[in-house]
Amino acid sequence: SDHALNYPASPQGFDWAALFPSYATSGKTPEFADVGCGFGGLLIALAPLFPDTLMLGMEIRVQVSQYVQDRIAALRATPASSTSHHFQNVSIVRANSMKFTPNYFPKHSLSALFFLFPDPHFKSRKHKARIISPTLLAEYAYVLRPGGIVYTITDVRDLHEWMKAHLDAFPLFEYVSEEVLRAEGKGAILDAVYSSTEEGKKVERNQGDKWLACFRRIEIPRL
Ligand code: SAM
Repeated sequence: SDHALNYPASPQGFDWAALFPSYATSGKTPEFADVGCGFGGLLIALAPLFPDTLMLGMEIRVQVSQYVQDRIAALRATPASSTSHHFQNVSIVRANSMKFTPNYFPKHSLSALFFLFPDPHFKSRKHKARIISPTLLAEYAYVLRPGGIVYTITDVRDLHEWMKAHLDAFPLFEYVSEEVLRAEGKGAILDAVYSSTEEGKKVERNQGDKWLACFRRIEIPRL
């Protein structure tokens, strides 16, 4: 249960230096959050592309989060000459993001929030377990800065419609098309969203569809 997990009481009290030792004196907190990061493919792909941006994955499964932690430790230990990047800007916590997102991230600290191939929870009575819901959207809006982007992608069309409908209905989020994001220079992020994660690669192998929906956190609520 969650009692077995150590949660920070607030982001201010959190020991970010333990996760990002190279940035211990920088005062930085993560700007990118990958919710339900699985085996960490997105984080590993983005880390070298945004070398000064701190990124945090959240993953609830013990073994999977441990695997990602080991993977990052190994990359950090690899001489920079062979990878050309140090991976000091990427880290992971084992956490239930549905309960504790605001414990980790300060208000308006995130510029990107990723929900990549989340668990679909097909049955109606399980919909409340979905990682996007009106209550959780209020939390995501709190941690995202105005202008920040929520990226969602799934191979399950029903889940895509669900996530899109909830985000559409929430006054602090505004739909933004893939074309607009690419024109803004976010193409590399979108490419990683589509195909850097383990689940994304699996969908590709099975020639499944991928449904993308992105939303911008806006400053003034929509009417
Ligand atoms: N995003 C990854 C990818 O694209 O490969 C993983 C996708 S996998 C289908 C969904 C992941 O979300 C699983 O690893 C699961 O353990 C994790 N997860 C589910 N609920 C979670 C929660 N409340 N908090 C954190 N992680 C969660």
